[in-house]
Amino acid sequence: MTIPVQQHEKVNLLNFDRQGLQAWFTEMGEKPFRAAQLMKWIYQFGVDDFVEMSNLSKSLREKLAQQAEIRLPEVVTEQVSDDGTVKWLLRLDSGNSIETVFIPENDRGTLCISSQVGCALECSFCSTAQQGFNRNLEVAEIIGQVVVANRALKCIPRNERVISNIVLMGMGEPLLNFDNVVTAINIMLEDNAYGLSKRRVTLSTSGVVPAIDRLKQVSDVSLALSLHAPNDALRNELVPLNQKYPIKEVLAACRRYISGETKRKITIEYVLLDGVNDSPQHARELVRLLKSLPCKVNLIPFNPFPGTKYTTSAEAAIERFRNIIVKGGLVTTTRKTRGEDIDAACGQLAGKVQDKTRRTLRRQQKNMTTGRTV
Ligand code: SAH
Repeated sequence: MTIPVQQHEKVNLLNFDRQGLQAWFTEMGEKPFRAAQLMKWIYQFGVDDFVEMSNLSKSLREKLAQQAEIRLPEVVTEQVSDDGTVKWLLRLDSGNSIETVFIPENDRGTLCISSQVGCALECSFCSTAQQGFNRNLEVAEIIGQVVVANRALKCIPRNERVISNIVLMGMGEPLLNFDNVVTAINIMLEDNAYGLSKRRVTLSTSGVVPAIDRLKQVSDVSLALSLHAPNDALRNELVPLNQKYPIKEVLAACRRYISGETKRKITIEYVLLDGVNDSPQHARELVRLLKSLPCKVNLIPFNPFPGTKYTTSAEAAIERFRNIIVKGGLVTTTRKTRGEDIDAACGQLAGKVQDKTRRTLRRQQKNMTTGRTV
């Protein structure tokens, strides 16, 4: 009779930033400088097979092969839009997948990554919210999106674009997966990995006030706030987290985040919803609210998705809104919708979420009683 050997779980090295890897190597009785060598192999040379890591001793390579692995999310599909936007559907485990998007522009290439499977917040205009929530992403699953995209982009014909910027604006609320997000950001900024500057990595949040303050203690990446409304009554409706952390407190936290750093600005995201938050009155209110905050406002035309009650503001309404806030002295950009033909636009990222919150079920029940179909 053969007794099956108990397979111990290998450590996925993508879960560590340099500090974590150094600690892990030390624990293994190895020198901490191995961490930097290993990171270069993985993130800069694209090598996952320990055998090929020629500056590591043979015995260390064998030890690594036995105890560790470099396991990436699995690419299920890759779609390339007419405008060059690329979207990947990545499978994490049997029930869950996430989406990651690359947006090429003239002067940069931005990768939009997810931080959670689904989202626990229920912003009324976001399609991820409709899918409910399953779990936080591991560090390996967050940084894994960058690794997969970086390698895949090199394989797309006629694509000379590289990832110059990363935004945490995909599925999930990054500040509710704090530790893993911060570790993944460390890898993005790490010289032995991607070496991106802090200005080129942007974390977008719905406004988790205590976590904004915590973030300032450990990182100094760019911060974007999903504001979407100029007063609490309306923001309570659109971003229910506002009931816990109202606008005044959130903006104060943003101010603290950039305090002591001249020239830094908070990005304010404002999705324009037809007849909801796009009137001249709203624009004037926004000017009053933001005029003393160092910020730039990013106006985002709403991207519809099946079942939504909102519609996109007319172009004239967007222009009118924009003119008022520009005249009011706010630095403003209007986000161009990209990758629409492959459902890769903001708020359209869906993936596959095994909902643990029963939100999808509740919605279906509600729709059954109202006769609405999703
Ligand atoms: N939870 C974080 C990170 C997600 S980013 C946050 O709220 O900031 C999500 C961004 O996508 C939001 O700022 C919003 O600007 C945008 N968004 C969400 N749904 C959208 C939609 N349907 N159309 C356009 N933009 C949307």
